[in-house]
Amino acid sequence: MAFFAARSAKTTLKCPQCQEKLDIARTCHEVFMRCNQCKRKYPLEQYIGQADEAMESFLENVYCDRI
Ligand SMILES: [Zn+2]
Repeated sequence: MAFFAARSAKTTLKCPQCQEKLDIARTCHEVFMRCNQCKRKYPLEQYIGQADEAMESFLENVYCDRI
């Protein structure tokens, strides 16, 4: 059931397609950026350099969950 444990958090980064704010989201085995407006997914690597507070705290939780 781990697949359904995906969580997400709202970030302040904008979708390059529609300017909507992106979510950071994860499944059991990957983390990525997602736009709820146009449903696009973007690789986290593309945004990690501009990570905001929401992203940083989300990522902390991701790694803690694996213990
Ligand atoms: Zn979008």
